[in-house]
Amino acid sequence: MKHVIIPYDLLMTFVSIMKQAESEVVGFLIGSKAGDAIIVNELILCENEDRSPYSFKVHPNAVLKAHEIAESYGLDIIAIIHSHPGPPYPSVMDLGGMKLWGIPWIIVDRLSHEVRAWELNGGKAVELELMSTPK
Ligand SMILES: [Zn+2]
Repeated sequence: MKHVIIPYDLLMTFVSIMKQAESEVVGFLIGSKAGDAIIVNELILCENEDRSPYSFKVHPNAVLKAHEIAESYGLDIIAIIHSHPGPPYPSVMDLGGMKLWGIPWIIVDRLSHEVRAWELNGGKAVELELMSTPK
C-alpha cells in the first residue's frame, strides 16, 4: 500500500510555524520514491499569497525555486503540505489543486494538529498511510 514517510522533526517544525501563523501555511515536501513509499526529506515553506486562514496560493516563482532546491539535493517535489483551520480533509479548492499537481497532499489541522495524507485517484481523494520517523 502506498504510504508517505515523513521525518518527525519536520512535522513538528511545520506545526510550530503553523501555530504562530495567521494564514494557512504551505510548503513543498521534497524527497524520493521507492516502490510504494514516498519518502520526505525536506520542507520548503512558501509564502501564502492569499494571506488567508482559509486558502493558499503560491507564486509561480516560489514553485520554480522549490524545483531548483529539490534538484540541487538530487530530489524531487513529492508532496504538498498545508494547514487547515479545521479537520484535515481536502476542500473543493484543494481537489482542484490536487488535479493539477498529481502528487500527494498532506493537510494539518491547525487546532488538533491531526495530519492526513491524500492523493487523487479516479477524481476522488483517497487517504494514504502516513508514517513519521521516530522522535
Ligand atoms: Zn486546503
